[in-house]
Amino acid sequence: MMQRAYIGLGSNLATPLLQLRSALDALSALPQSSVAAHSSFYISDPLGPADQPRYVNAVAALDTGLSPLALLDALQTIELEQGRTRKAERWGPRTLDLDILLFGNLHIDEPRLTVPHYHMHARAFVLYPLAEIAPDLRLPDGRPISELLEACPYVGLERLP
Ligand code: ATP
Ligand code: MG
Ligand code: MG
Repeated sequence: MMQRAYIGLGSNLATPLLQLRSALDALSALPQSSVAAHSSFYISDPLGPADQPRYVNAVAALDTGLSPLALLDALQTIELEQGRTRKAERWGPRTLDLDILLFGNLHIDEPRLTVPHYHMHARAFVLYPLAEIAPDLRLPDGRPISELLEACPYVGLERLP
C-alpha cells in the first residue's frame, strides 16, 4: 500500500543547497517511492550549539510503498552517502539530516522511530515548509497544521526565492 510520508531535510555543511538538491534526487530514486512535492528552501538558525553555520531546510512529500522502518533505513543510508558522520554532540553540524515527520496517519513508537516526529510542532523550520506543500494537513491526532503554525512564530527563518 502506498502512503504519503513527509520528510524534513536539513544541512549546514558542505554547500547545504547542493546537499538538499542531491537528497531530493536520492529520495526520488528510492524503490517504490516518488517525491510528490517539495517546499522552498529556507535558511534557519541552528538548534542547540549556536557556534555552527545556519541551516538550509526543506520538507518533501514522499509517496512510498516502503514500510516506516525500511524508509528510515533508506534515509540513514542517504545521510551516510552524503558524508554524515555521527558525533557525540547532539544537534551539531551535519551535511544532511533526513527525518520522518509524518507517515500517513500512523503513530509509531519504536526504539528507532517515533512518528509524528517528537519535536515537529515546535520547529518553525519544519512547520512553515510543511504548510507550504500541505496547507490543509492534519496530524494523526486531528490537529490542523494551521493551529500548529499559530503556536510557532515565524522566527529565525528566511525563505529563499
Ligand atoms: P532530532 O531528532 O532532534 O531532529 P537529529 O535529527 O539530529 O535530532 P539524528 O542523529 O538524526 O537526530 O537521529 C537520532 C536517531 O533518531 C536516529 O538514529 C533514529 O533512529 C531516531 N529517530 C526516531 N524517530 C525518528 C524519525 N521520526 N525520523 C528520523 N529518525 C528518528
Ligand atoms: Mg533532525
Ligand atoms: Mg535526524
